[in-house]
Parts: sequence; C-alpha cells; structure tokens
Amino acid sequence: MFDYLIVGAGFAGSVLAERLANGSGKKVLICDKRPHIAGNAFDYYNDDGILIHKYGPHIFHTNSADVFEYLSRFTEWREYQHRVLASVDGMQLPIPINLDTINKLYGLNLTAFEVEEFFEKLAEKCDVIRTSEDVVVSKVGRELYEKFFRNYTRKQWGLDPSELDASVTARVPTRTNRDDRYFTDSYQAMPKHGYTRMFEKMLDHPNIKIMLNCDYREIASQIGYREMIYTGPIDQFFDYRYGKLPYRSLEFKHETHDTETFQSAPVINYPNEQAFTRITEFKYLTGQEHRKTSIVYEFPQATGDPYYPIPRKENAGIYAKYKALADNAQNVHFVGRLATYKYYNMDQIVAQALTEYGKIVGMKRKEATIKTKSNEKVFAAAQTSNGASSPAASIN
Ligand SMILES: Cc1cc2nc3c(=O)[nH]c(=O)nc-3n(C[C@H](O)[C@H](O)[C@H](O)COP(=O)(O)OP(=O)(O)OC[C@H]3O[C@@H](n4cnc5c(N)ncnc54)[C@H](O)[C@@H]3O)c2cc1C
Repeated sequence: MFDYLIVGAGFAGSVLAERLANGSGKKVLICDKRPHIAGNAFDYYNDDGILIHKYGPHIFHTNSADVFEYLSRFTEWREYQHRVLASVDGMQLPIPINLDTINKLYGLNLTAFEVEEFFEKLAEKCDVIRTSEDVVVSKVGRELYEKFFRNYTRKQWGLDPSELDASVTARVPTRTNRDDRYFTDSYQAMPKHGYTRMFEKMLDHPNIKIMLNCDYREIASQIGYREMIYTGPIDQFFDYRYGKLPYRSLEFKHETHDTETFQSAPVINYPNEQAFTRITEFKYLTGQEHRKTSIVYEFPQATGDPYYPIPRKENAGIYAKYKALADNAQNVHFVGRLATYKYYNMDQIVAQALTEYGKIVGMKRKEATIKTKSNEKVFAAAQTSNGASSPAASIN
C-alpha cells in the first residue's frame, strides 16, 4: 500500500515525491510514461559524450531564494547568464532589444537617453492593450515589431500576434542600456552535473519507488494508494469531457558538428526566413569542453507532445470547467504545467509543488520546505535537552 501515487516525474511530481518521503515519511510510487525521470528538463550525454537537453534548452533562473536553496540540496551550480541574438536583416543582434540592437540595426550611435526618445517616436498610441501586437507596437512601433516579433510569434504559435492575449509578449522587455542578458533574475545558474543528476538525488530515498514507461492508467486500479498527485494533462484525466485543451508543440532536430563552436551565442533566434525559431548550442549552457559541439533546432508544430498551452480566452474557458471538476475531485491533487494548463518556468513549478506540500501537511511553504523526518528528531532532542527549541537544530 502506497500513501501516494504520483503521476509524472518532472519538477512538480519529483519535488512532491521528495517532500512527502523525506519530509513526512510517506510511501510514494512515482510513475512516468516516458522512459526517464526529469520531465521536460531531462538531459543526457549523447553518443558523442556531449550533455544535451532532449526537449530543448532549459535555463534555470529565479528570484526566489527559497526555491534556489531548496534545489541546492540536490545539486551544485554553475553560474550562467543567458544571452540570445536574433538574426535580422543579415545581422545578429541582441534580444531583448537594447541600445546596441538599435545602433547596429540602423547604423546609429545613440546614447541611452536618445534611444528612449527614439522608441517614443516609433511607439504607436494604443488606448487599450488587448493583444500581443498591441503590447509591442505600443512600445517600439511597427517596424521593430515586424522585424523581431511578428513572424517569430506567428511561427511559434501558428497565430498572428493580433490573435494572441497580451500576456504572451508582455514579458518581452526592451532596454535603453547595453545590458544583453536575457534574464535579470537574482539567481541564474545551471545544475553543475545536469538536471537529470539533480532529479536522481531528489528521488533517492528508500520510500520512493519509480516506475518508468508506465502510464498511470495501466496501474492505478491494480495498486493500492491513498491519494494521487496528478501532473499530467488535466483534460486527459477527465477523459476530455469538455473537449481537448489546445497545445502548441515542437519538433527538435538535434545535430552534432565536428567543430568546437557552431555559433556566436548560446541561442540564436530566427524570426523571419527559416522554418525553425531558434538554434541552441548546448556547450554554452553546460560549460562542457569537447572538441565537437551539439546543437538543436526547434520547429513549432500544431500536433505532437503538449508543450505550450495556447493563451486565448476560449481555452481559458475550457480550462475553468476542468478546474471546477479538479477542485471537487476526492484525494487527487493537480499540480504542474499540464494539470493547471499554464506555461510556467521551472522555478514557478518548484514553488507551486512546495506550496501544495505545505497545504497537504498544513504548514506554510517555508516551514514545509525545511522539514525532514530526520530533523524532526534533532528538533525534539534539542527541546528535551535545553527545554527550549533551537532554531538552528531544526534547519538542515
Ligand atoms: C521547449 C521548452 C523550453 C523551456 N525552457 C525553459 C527554461 O529555459 N527555463 C524554465 O524555467 N522553464 C523552461 N521550460 C518550462 C519547463 O519545461 C517547465 O516549467 C517544467 O518542465 C514543468 O514541470 P512539470 O513537472 O509541471 O511538467 P513536465 O516536466 O512536463 O512533467 C510532467 C510529466 O508527466 C508525465 N505524464 C503525463 N501524462 C502521464 C500519464 N498519463 N502517465 C504517466 N506520466 C504522465 C510526462 O511524461 C512528463 O514527464 C521550457 C519548456 C519548454 C517546452
């Protein structure tokens, strides 16, 4: 008899497995229909011995000290600041658009102050910002929108930006300085030995059993468990009662080249001419030294594995119906990007899983994150010997 059956061994499922086993002594069975743990963050050494990300580049970044500290229990880190160039008009230019992007694109020599005025002149007034197109055009005008955003978004989503919620491009900042970092979070780093190694350590507990190549529907009725943590697609759980929730998919084309470096940046975006959206060269991300190099092309697809929930009003409406069913489901917790039908970064999923664990054990997230079965004993011992609790003793 297991206390929990966890469906999916990505961040959501694995964090909850670790917390339930290590924090509460629960017996957990975690299954995944794929042949590996780590979900979309899975990485492995390819035939040439180069560490690659099977499902496209995963860059860890967060502003949450709690999340970073929690994951640091299972990995050391390699400091890494992500940088991206966009191939536009035969040049490779920094993205997000910054001072250098504008100066190089137009052969200018503007200062930070002047480029601000430049954007203001280009920006088109828009009373109500509804779509992704409105977001960009109202900030940097139509020409930059067309060069950098329009076709990229059309390829990525199969929809024109004018048909997509403002939230899709709301996160694309423009800068008037020369900062060419893709993210500005306080913590930016890659797991030193890769994501899969980090997951292996997270799941390394005698109370956790792992079943791979296993769809939960094949085993759920045959094994005993008290509660389920479900991190798969929410519509599938309810047999598509209200129809299928639409996703955008990707096809990854991996290649290894007999040269030390393939391109001049970790990621180069191709907004316009190509069928793919971007090329990633993994050695930049991992810091690995090797005489060959591996890259991946991403080709957006309408069908295939579910990667990006499509942020449109009608889809939010379908999801709301499934959520109402989920809220009433007995002994099932819905966690993660597929079960909540929203694009989340890895750190947000870790936070979501830690919060869910806090709810299960009736604690605040922070307390629930540091609690382990073994430090409960240390904590109790400190209380008997000193007559008072020692906060230091309760922290691992
Ligand atoms: C191309 C791409 C790039 C990304 N890059 C970044 C990035 O740079 N930085 C970042 O922070 N985030 C990035 N993300 C987001 C990141 O992948 C997610 O935040 C994270 O993987 C979510 O974890 P999860 O556990 O919710 O889902 P997943 O990792 O998808 O795990 C869910 C698991 O459930 C399993 N499952 C589903 N149905 C069943 C079933 N019926 N039975 C058994 N198992 C099942 C699946 O096989 C899967 O392994 C990226 C996402 C994509 C698609």
